[in-house]
Amino acid sequence: MDSSSLLPKSNAKWTERQRRLLTEIANDFTVSTEKLETLTQQFVHQMRLGLSTHDPQELAMIPTFVTGRPDGHERGSYLALDLGGTNLRVCLITLKGNHQLETHQKAYTVSDYLQQADVAELMDFIAASIKEFIYSEHISSKIVEHPSGSDTLELGFTFSFPVSQTAIDAGTLLRWTKGFDCPGAVGNDIVMLLQLALDRNDVNVHVAALINDTVGTALAHSYSHSNTFVGAIFGTGTNGAYLEDTRNIKTMTLDSNDMFINTEWGNFDKGKNCLPVTIFDNKLDRESINPSFQIFEKMISGMYLGEITRNVLLHLIDHRALFDGASSTQLNMHSAFEAKFMSVIEADDSESLNRTARVLERYLDIHLSTQTDREIVKLVCQLVGTRAARLSAMATAALIRQGLEAGSLRNQGYPLKTSLHSEESVDQNGNGDASRPPLHVAIDGSVFEHYPHFEERMYDALVEVLGKHAKDVVKLGIARDGSGVGAALAALIATKSVTNSR
Ligand code: ADP
Ligand code: MG
Repeated sequence: MDSSSLLPKSNAKWTERQRRLLTEIANDFTVSTEKLETLTQQFVHQMRLGLSTHDPQELAMIPTFVTGRPDGHERGSYLALDLGGTNLRVCLITLKGNHQLETHQKAYTVSDYLQQADVAELMDFIAASIKEFIYSEHISSKIVEHPSGSDTLELGFTFSFPVSQTAIDAGTLLRWTKGFDCPGAVGNDIVMLLQLALDRNDVNVHVAALINDTVGTALAHSYSHSNTFVGAIFGTGTNGAYLEDTRNIKTMTLDSNDMFINTEWGNFDKGKNCLPVTIFDNKLDRESINPSFQIFEKMISGMYLGEITRNVLLHLIDHRALFDGASSTQLNMHSAFEAKFMSVIEADDSESLNRTARVLERYLDIHLSTQTDREIVKLVCQLVGTRAARLSAMATAALIRQGLEAGSLRNQGYPLKTSLHSEESVDQNGNGDASRPPLHVAIDGSVFEHYPHFEERMYDALVEVLGKHAKDVVKLGIARDGSGVGAALAALIATKSVTNSR
């Protein structure tokens, strides 16, 4: 992509200084095709390092012990639990066996008190919430059909905190995040803590699986789209999981063929060795609560996009290239510019950029903007938003590359490029193998869902890295409620493998 294409053609109204500054910024934020290729190669390299050692790497590459994908024929009812913030969600998922399912859910508030209370107290609250859900929704094990044949309800648990997993139903909490700090949890098995609370409170539920939301997203999508290879989150944060050939997981011996790996890709290139980090990103990183961690996440995800944009706007203001050099108290505040403002501005196709003016007035207390000011604000949003989408596509492409070169997609005739100058494997008519099912990428998150052009920009970058067939072969799709449906499917997979191995 040529960054100058975003600059106005006849920018007669722009001053020389505006043109110079904006050209510089456009160059800084532009990720060329060559750069995308270099980043993809570096990403794949980092993935392989993470798969081959227990030492902490930039990509953690955590084995999830989820060793299969649903195909949409699974049946049965499972409970799902989702804990990741102020809400605890309890769901009953009924899988109907024909790619159809029903969900039933209730949210319970986890009070500030409970977020800091002893972990036994938190788990008692969760057990009580499940009990309440079962009674109020009249759920009995009689109506529940599941392969283990027991009369216990099986439950899958999506737990969105850093966990070191040791089995599909066991994982130790590494640390609390997001305001939680319950003593007695770190270093202990989360499944065991919950199971003890369920037993203590006479709730006849068995915790069958513990999963991460990326894996949940992939599993949920698999139920309706077979051949789902990647699960990705582009929301408050970003992360991805994919199906790996277990022979590539050098840190353990496994007897299954494939396993989902949680890459924890938000931490890619922590050392800033190859990412096109700008001074605006460095400023954001320095002022963040976790400096020098999650550098990649900070260039992509909803929590940060607005702040990068704000940093650029302030730079332009300080150089008297925007708003006649005047900021506002509001715009001077950290985090005052939100990703959803960028969505409104990027969607503003009106000649005079009215909606952009309204965002500036209403949320940023900037009442006197010229047409040129508004054009510049929109251009900055486009630059920051485009870079985010292209980097998101790069990470997705890297997971697919690893699959094509060394993993479960190898030798399958996908007409995709494995390096910048390689040829796609195509037939004599120049087509890829049409009988190949598409490779589905399951995505959850407001940034992908709501940010204008995010999806189309991702596809453009996927084509640059994986070749022209990528548009037909790779299908980006929204998978809502991965944490509910995905947890239920993980519980099913876990109980099925127990049944099989008996
Ligand atoms: P979570 O990741 O916490 O599950 P979401 O997927 O809804 O939640 O993502 C929330 C993030 O998405 C927030 O950081 C917010 O700034 C951003 N966001 C919400 N709405 C929009 C929008 N319309 N356009 C762009 N970003 C948005
Ligand atoms: Mg979410």
